[in-house]
Amino acid sequence: MNTMNQAFISESVIHFENFEIAFQDKTDKELKLSYRLFQFINKPILIKLGSPFIRLALQYRLPVEGIVRATIYKHFCGGETIESCFPVIKKLLDSKISTILDYSIEGKDSEHDFEETKQYILSVIQAAKKRSDLSIFAVFKPSGMARMALLEKMNDMKGRASLSEEEKAEYERVVNRFDAICKSAYEHDIPVYIDAEETWIQAAIDTLVTEMMVKYNQEKPIVFNTVQMYRTHRIEAMQDALTHAKANGYFLGIKLVRGAYMEKERERAQKFGYVSPIQASKEATDQDFDSVLRFCVENIDRISLCAGTHNEKSAETLVKVMGDYGISASDRRVWFSQLYGMSDHISYNLAAAGYNVSKYLPFGPVKGVLPYLIRRAEENTSIAGQMGREMSMLVKEIKRRKSIGKA
Ligand SMILES: Cc1cc2nc3c(=O)[nH]c(=O)nc-3n(C[C@H](O)[C@H](O)[C@H](O)COP(=O)(O)OP(=O)(O)OC[C@H]3O[C@@H](n4cnc5c(N)ncnc54)[C@H](O)[C@@H]3O)c2cc1C
Repeated sequence: MNTMNQAFISESVIHFENFEIAFQDKTDKELKLSYRLFQFINKPILIKLGSPFIRLALQYRLPVEGIVRATIYKHFCGGETIESCFPVIKKLLDSKISTILDYSIEGKDSEHDFEETKQYILSVIQAAKKRSDLSIFAVFKPSGMARMALLEKMNDMKGRASLSEEEKAEYERVVNRFDAICKSAYEHDIPVYIDAEETWIQAAIDTLVTEMMVKYNQEKPIVFNTVQMYRTHRIEAMQDALTHAKANGYFLGIKLVRGAYMEKERERAQKFGYVSPIQASKEATDQDFDSVLRFCVENIDRISLCAGTHNEKSAETLVKVMGDYGISASDRRVWFSQLYGMSDHISYNLAAAGYNVSKYLPFGPVKGVLPYLIRRAEENTSIAGQMGREMSMLVKEIKRRKSIGKA
């Protein structure tokens, strides 16, 4: 049998070891570059020393931008503008992978910045509609639309009541930004994912996103909230969300992730002396993640799911659960999603087997995307085994190509 067709699926079991499929759109040169990049990222000391240097160098306009652009930026990002991402998006789609186009500029904190970010997200939605042949979705981070301190204030039980008149007006502008984006997503029929952030602002985000889902998910899921399973009591939260969706007649759009701010969450809880909102162990997180995968599939008539994970076992579990419930691989209510530049073995093998897969593709000017890239590199050094796995897969594919005289 042609190995390209062997992606692998038999009785709802998936295998991710077909590296020919995993790296099918990478040239030999790109494979080697990726390997060297992961080798670099795998050395925490280099990341620790290198990150501040690159930040300073860019600030003082030293000629490092070209190096960053040709290496880490090229590996993890699509381009500086929406249009410049189209070739990457097209290449992904050639392997049946959709794109969640992510304007990844972080650390902005003024009304002007928030408006500018909103405009970018609206432009993504418009471009996604115009290029409907490319299968593009939108995403944004709530802290790109609102001041953290304002969201934090809204997060406490008193909500709007605790705001000054000026802050109430500011909050109205935040609601209007969310509404403008979700309305445009609805009108253009382009799904929009809203990222989850720190627990001290997340209740405020959940409230806002729920308002949007009530408004725009009446016919089908357009607006997706994110649920972080490293938090305790998320199973109950999901049950409540489903009850609310049923009571209000809308579809629940859920992006399920483990969560990205574990250390920060634990440190803050310790500093202020409250019980950590994070699960006691990785096993507990994994267990709840898989339970909620099952819960979503069980309630697929009401919930659309995007599993944002690089965990092979969770991807396997979701494939199995879909099989258990007789849900076809191509059912548009279930998606798998990974970050561009990571875990291609999961994305490409799932897509080749007919599952719906998307990649988060960051875009923006090199300097603006740098905090995202540094976070990615730092996160990668801290994920036990992840870099080793990425590297060993690249080595296997390089060797495989050599063995058949292709590299
Ligand atoms: C498409 C996509 C979208 C994402 N969107 C968001 C988002 O909106 N918000 C967000 O916060 N993150 C987001 N993430 C990041 C995600 O939350 C994880 O940090 C990252 O994907 C690693 O988890 P994993 O499931 O891929 O793999 P794994 O390597 O299996 O899991 C690592 C994760 O497990 C958890 N964990 C590790 N150790 C422990 C421990 N001792 N106790 C408890 N839990 C532990 C942590 O969450 C850690 O990040 C997204 C990821 C993807 C792929």
